[in-house]
Amino acid sequence: MNREHVFEFFRRLAEENPSPTTELEYENPYTLLVAVVLSAQATDASVNIATRPLFARVKTPERMVALGEAKVRDVIKTIGLFNTKAKNVIALSQALIRDHDSQVPGTREELEKLPGVGRKTANVVLNTAFHQETFAVDTHIFRVCNRTGLAPGKDVLKVELRLEKVVPQPFRLNAHHWLILHGRYICKARKPECWRCPVIDLCRYKPKTPPPGTKPSVARTGNPRSSATRIAKGRKPLLQS
Ligand code: SF4
Repeated sequence: MNREHVFEFFRRLAEENPSPTTELEYENPYTLLVAVVLSAQATDASVNIATRPLFARVKTPERMVALGEAKVRDVIKTIGLFNTKAKNVIALSQALIRDHDSQVPGTREELEKLPGVGRKTANVVLNTAFHQETFAVDTHIFRVCNRTGLAPGKDVLKVELRLEKVVPQPFRLNAHHWLILHGRYICKARKPECWRCPVIDLCRYKPKTPPPGTKPSVARTGNPRSSATRIAKGRKPLLQS
């Protein structure tokens, strides 16, 4: 995807959702950190169901440690890997109290030293709580970046580093939210919903999924330079470069 197309890609996602944010519910940087740790290999919706009653009572590391691992485990038992996650939530809360004056640190190095916190979690916290231009590559972003040709890479780190290079301003801060939401709701894993995709003409993935009830060939007009595709979607044709 060339620079012009990358800009247009994000311009359209921004137009459809000007203020994207995480779908995880949280009260402050600490509860955001806990929610992100709990969300590994789990859906945001399932995490929210567990954390709603938890965060109503617990908003600080001290309160979490006082609650104790057994009760945390009980509250989050509907989430995958709940045993390990309960251990990590208590251990990271103890580390915050001990090493960071009970505050969530604002650097990658410090975040990644906390139990249960990897690069992706650190990127989400840095972006959402500290407004840093980080790219937290999850399964949705990895898929969208490779399918579309936006930032292809064989592993999540390669995709992240590629995004660092190609995403222009003014989209860098919110890019990872737009990509996650696009992957979650339109460019779905099993069957991307290309027929209602706002970036169909910019995406290199083939064949495009046709609208329900139509023949596959109808949607294969999703060519980056296809004026027919853009006009069919009510847009002006792209300038040829
Ligand atoms: S056209 Fe299809 S494959 Fe490409 S980004 Fe849109 S939904 Fe995904």
